[in-house]
Amino acid sequence: MKMVTLPDGEQVAALGQGTWFMGDKPANRKDEIAALRAGIDLGMTVIDTAEMYGSGRSERLVGEALQGRRDQVFLVSKVLPNNAGFKDCIAACERSLQRLQTDRLDLYLLHWRGGVPFSETIEAFETLKRDGKIRRWGVSNLDIDDMDELVAAPGGEQVSTNQLLYNLSRRGIEWDLLPWCQNRGLPVMAYSPVEQARLLNDSGLVSLANELGLSVAQLALAWILRQQNVIAIPKAGHTAHVQENARAAQINLSPETLSRLDRLFPPPVGPRPLDIL
Ligand code: NAP
Repeated sequence: MKMVTLPDGEQVAALGQGTWFMGDKPANRKDEIAALRAGIDLGMTVIDTAEMYGSGRSERLVGEALQGRRDQVFLVSKVLPNNAGFKDCIAACERSLQRLQTDRLDLYLLHWRGGVPFSETIEAFETLKRDGKIRRWGVSNLDIDDMDELVAAPGGEQVSTNQLLYNLSRRGIEWDLLPWCQNRGLPVMAYSPVEQARLLNDSGLVSLANELGLSVAQLALAWILRQQNVIAIPKAGHTAHVQENARAAQINLSPETLSRLDRLFPPPVGPRPLDIL
């Protein structure tokens, strides 16, 4: 598995697993747990969840899937902006830990920016770190001006990642935010890397993938993983999809393929407001 180095030196898998909508349908529970476990066995050990997903149902499912495997994974959860005040954040983290049946998170993210000043959320994160409840913290859906403000706040330089919408059809961050993060050694976690499956039906991408003998998901994921310091977290509730996705970490795309992808999905030619799902 290709690895990405976090600012504190910890190495994590470049290909992980998302869990949004997992745990929502009881009929799918067994398959979703099996899919997550298969992904862990294949080295996709970054598991991303959030208190928001199914109002805790995703975290509960992840907790069940990780029974006996907690030490094999790098576990990520997120606090909602309206729980990002000092006391609320500590309490939200405790609830997430309970649902996940664990004593610590490897990474805790502010899901997006709300009304609480960054300094207050950072204080909560640093307190959780000192108490051993989280090992590090980061943010999600923050554009460049928010990132400038964050790192200027007391303790803000401790940020470990920015989790962002990034895939072939959402390339806006390549203009400024991705370089901003890369220049600071800050990995980006690419969420919705196959655009919630919408990319998989793109006719140009389908033709190119067929020509290369790849699945469309593999091509889309390999394109994200071509970058240094980017982690992709596809969600797949079916084991066959997970197995297919895992192979993307071994694929190197040629310069010619990358040029063809640039023609199908042109890179940005100027700054754009941050895309969010
Ligand atoms: P995604 O990973 O781009 O797409 C998920 C969809 O793609 C599912 O329907 C899945 O199907 C399908 N899929 C995956 N691999 C496939 C394959 N090989 N072949 C065919 N279909 C495949 O979308 P996402 O769930 O929005 O994003 C991934 C994760 O990022 C989320 O689960 C969540 O953890 C995180 N996220 C974070 C934010 C944020 O604000 N920070 C926002 C959105 C997402 P099956 O499930 O049927 O296998």
